[in-house]
Amino acid sequence: MAKDNNAPQSNSQPRVVQTSESCMAEGCKKKITRMHFCDEHFEWYKEGLINKRGERPSDFDKKHQHWLRKKAAA
Ligand SMILES: [Zn+2]
Repeated sequence: MAKDNNAPQSNSQPRVVQTSESCMAEGCKKKITRMHFCDEHFEWYKEGLINKRGERPSDFDKKHQHWLRKKAAA
């Protein structure tokens, strides 16, 4: 009858593993403004140009072109 009731949650300091403060997108050093991205790359993420880890999909070029055209038309 082992009742384990002493979970270590009395720590007042939250455990922060990720201390990065710059955008997760490849090669970007801008400051994070939303989620893990800067303004520009957050837009990319919303458009599916990069995933939440800042990685580009294999059809990135196509998507990027499409996004640029869309932006220019706006
Ligand atoms: Zn960025």
